[in-house]
Amino acid sequence: MFEWTEEQRMIRDAVRQFVEAEIAPRRDEFEFGDTPPYEVLRKLYKTFGLDVMAREQFKRRLDRPDGGGGLLGGDGEEVDPKVRANTVAMPMIPIIELCRHSPGMVTALGVSVGLTAAAIMSKGTREQQERWALDLLTLDKIGAWAITEPNSGSDAFGSMLSTARRDGDEYILNGSKTFITNGPYADTVVFICKLDEGNPPDQRKILHFVLDSGMPGFDQSPPLRKMGLHSSPTGQLFLTDVRVGRDRLLGETEEVSGGGREDAKATFSIERSGVAAMALGMIDRCLELCVQYAKERVQFGQPIGEFQLVQEKLARMEVARLNVENLLFRYIEILAHGKQPTLAEASAMKLYSSHAAVEVTLDAVQLFGGNGYMSEFHVEQLARDAKVLEIYAGTNEIQMTHIAKDLLRR
Ligand SMILES: Cc1cc2nc3c(=O)[nH]c(=O)nc-3n(C[C@H](O)[C@H](O)[C@H](O)COP(=O)(O)OP(=O)(O)OC[C@H]3O[C@@H](n4cnc5c(N)ncnc54)[C@H](O)[C@@H]3O)c2cc1C
Repeated sequence: MFEWTEEQRMIRDAVRQFVEAEIAPRRDEFEFGDTPPYEVLRKLYKTFGLDVMAREQFKRRLDRPDGGGGLLGGDGEEVDPKVRANTVAMPMIPIIELCRHSPGMVTALGVSVGLTAAAIMSKGTREQQERWALDLLTLDKIGAWAITEPNSGSDAFGSMLSTARRDGDEYILNGSKTFITNGPYADTVVFICKLDEGNPPDQRKILHFVLDSGMPGFDQSPPLRKMGLHSSPTGQLFLTDVRVGRDRLLGETEEVSGGGREDAKATFSIERSGVAAMALGMIDRCLELCVQYAKERVQFGQPIGEFQLVQEKLARMEVARLNVENLLFRYIEILAHGKQPTLAEASAMKLYSSHAAVEVTLDAVQLFGGNGYMSEFHVEQLARDAKVLEIYAGTNEIQMTHIAKDLLRR
């Protein structure tokens, strides 16, 4: 059974100190102003040497004869499960710690590094990896990953209207994307569209292109106003006859890129597991705040923690915390033994954790009474932020359909 190691706990404490010193005091700026999160995330990377580590890992990966394998070892490669567990667990620590205060920071970071750079690393040629992925992995540049459109969300591929048309050796890209994390500020964008060869839309290949901010015909909107997650800028992208060479087509061949649906599904699996770590940070913080408040707030001549209905909330929060942590530990163990969770398992993890985060954060607002509804008390922000966990990375209804389909296939 996986447990946090002594070293991981020490790192957790150090990251917590950083977040409490650098992010918590600036909460109003990030959550209620328009200060983008990138400068403080870069400081986090520099403080913990994550940029240097990313550069070294990138070089090691490219030096391998097959250019692959990653940190967890390639097919058939012997890696000690403890080393693997550590490799999986370490990146969870900043996710959990940042989410205790500012879940939006994790979304902005996760989309840039975990989705955009990861897509380029898994599908790009060596030249494309060197040209775009390294700067994203070190946070020198910010990335966005764009699949959602105004008319295609849950049915991401079926209703997709964005197109690439061949024009000699080049392509002409058109379309619009919405709800794109980092969209307003991204330097590098992975744009997912269909190859229009005059064939019916449902038979078109899925292609991934890499765009740079400022290219002619490519516009990035200002940040959209939204319910929560304010420290993560979200925007729209508009492409009008954007001309690109084959060097911007990931993999530089339509055939590699044509397997787009399977690749995107693999991405969904990673995203869904990340949501559990986010939920854990938010639940953990709410529980900490609520226990403290239940001891300090006095009504009817006694601390509210003496009332059984308040105790019930605290107990349910602790059960949720333990369950989500156990799901995360199980995920770490699966990867430590060289396996991958199925899409249905990743969906179950996302479904449960996101729902638990919403319930716990709303219960926390209730436990704080009128104070809970006030922005000054942190639980108000966490409750607004938690809701998105049930919507993005596939809505919870879609997670349910994936779990049920898997059960019915057996
Ligand atoms: C803050 C934020 C950041 C995001 N970041 C990104 C990003 O970086 N890149 C990106 O590409 N996208 C991003 N998204 C988009 C996100 O992935 C979509 O919003 C999500 O997939 C849902 O799509 P939709 O909004 O179009 O909802 P719809 O698909 O229109 O769904 C509307 C409702 O219908 C339900 N529904 C739909 N289909 C079914 C079905 N088959 N069975 C049962 N119920 C169904 C849904 O569950 C939902 O309740 C982001 C969204 C948000 C809110």
